[in-house]
Amino acid sequence: MTTEYLIVGAGPSGCAAGITLCKHGKECMIIERYPLGRRKLCAGVFTRKSQRALDELLGAETAVKCYGECLVSREKQLVLWKDMEKLVACDTRFPITLIDRPKFDYFLAKHFMEQGGTILDNTNIVSISFDDRTVTLENGEKITYKNLIAADGANSFVEREAKKQVVGFLPKDESILAMEINVDREDFSIDGVNLYFEIVPETYAWAFSKADKVCLGLGKLQGKDFSAQEVFTQFLKKLGVKNLDKYPLRGAMLPFGNTMPVPAIPSADVMFVGDAGGLVEPVTGEGIFCALQSGIFAGDSRNAEEYLEKVKFLHRLIKKDAGYQKLLTMPRMMRFFYHRVKDNPGFMEHFYSTQIEEVCFEKFIQIYLKYKLLYRRKKDKS
Ligand SMILES: Cc1cc2nc3c(=O)[nH]c(=O)nc-3n(C[C@H](O)[C@H](O)[C@H](O)COP(=O)(O)OP(=O)(O)OC[C@H]3O[C@@H](n4cnc5c(N)ncnc54)[C@H](O)[C@@H]3O)c2cc1C
Repeated sequence: MTTEYLIVGAGPSGCAAGITLCKHGKECMIIERYPLGRRKLCAGVFTRKSQRALDELLGAETAVKCYGECLVSREKQLVLWKDMEKLVACDTRFPITLIDRPKFDYFLAKHFMEQGGTILDNTNIVSISFDDRTVTLENGEKITYKNLIAADGANSFVEREAKKQVVGFLPKDESILAMEINVDREDFSIDGVNLYFEIVPETYAWAFSKADKVCLGLGKLQGKDFSAQEVFTQFLKKLGVKNLDKYPLRGAMLPFGNTMPVPAIPSADVMFVGDAGGLVEPVTGEGIFCALQSGIFAGDSRNAEEYLEKVKFLHRLIKKDAGYQKLLTMPRMMRFFYHRVKDNPGFMEHFYSTQIEEVCFEKFIQIYLKYKLLYRRKKDKS
């Protein structure tokens, strides 16, 4: 078999690349390891910037159909906690959209096929030769391609093979471990989108209201000397989640500020998109936006060089935000942040709605200084 574009992975990044290539009339094929509609560990926060990327990919009309199939809830309230102490609760100006990931990914895969793309699902690759531009499948069949798009997630097979075969190739650093369960309302109930600090060092835990379920999770940075499973279990017990035995703890890798230094191999016409390229926002762990956007960039590019030019914007943004992640999680900064949040409930709303929903921390410093100044004035007056 031969194809012009071979995409490995039918997650949002692979499907976004495939749908964009179909729009350009290119011949492309996706290979997916699992049957379509696979389970996917993801809290499903779908920000306004992700929604814009989806509109660009599908067109507004099809995007509405997509929400019709995968929307779970739209939450108005954002609540921040310091351990189990409620710091602030605010209504966000736009509801926070939560989607069902397996349904979302399935919709994109189906749409890709409707546009003329081919998917070989439940199909595993056993080897890749970058020199011959050929992959070998488990059944021994070979597929020859001109361009390869690696959309195979945080633990990318294509990346591991590139590390072995391509001289000078620099992989991303290790990803973080994120743990998550979805519990029934009768076992634990909470409203809104809740973020918990001081549960796990330098990251956060969460509890999101998702219709008849609550999604609970946390992320653990690499190199930290504790068991994510134990900390997660303690967190669930502190919250008072009942019947814990019903819910096996699940974990998955998530890139976190460790983007691949150069997410393409121009000499071999390989592009890395989404998690495979380490393209995830490193303060929040939001990856769907980068997956969709990098997939669109790959599909829009004539070659890997052009992709590198286009994806530079995401790459820079992630590197900058990785710096913010370190700054924001310094103990002094956290203490300062808790005070500001308590004094200014509007700060959190404004910060979340503009810097997380709309963009990635583009005006963080300005907003921070503005609220700091307002606080000073308020204090001076009183
Ligand atoms: C616990 C958790 C919670 C999260 N919550 C959010 C959130 O609320 N909002 C948000 O924006 N992001 C969230 N993320 C991040 C988000 O899920 C990812 O960034 C996103 O899924 C990346 O999409 P992708 O297409 O690059 O990779 P994936 O979605 O991982 O897709 C990769 C695909 O490749 C396939 N594959 C892998 N290896 C092979 C192979 N060898 N051959 C063929 N196919 C292969 C996989 O089966 C999979 O279908 C979360 C992540 C985790 C772990």
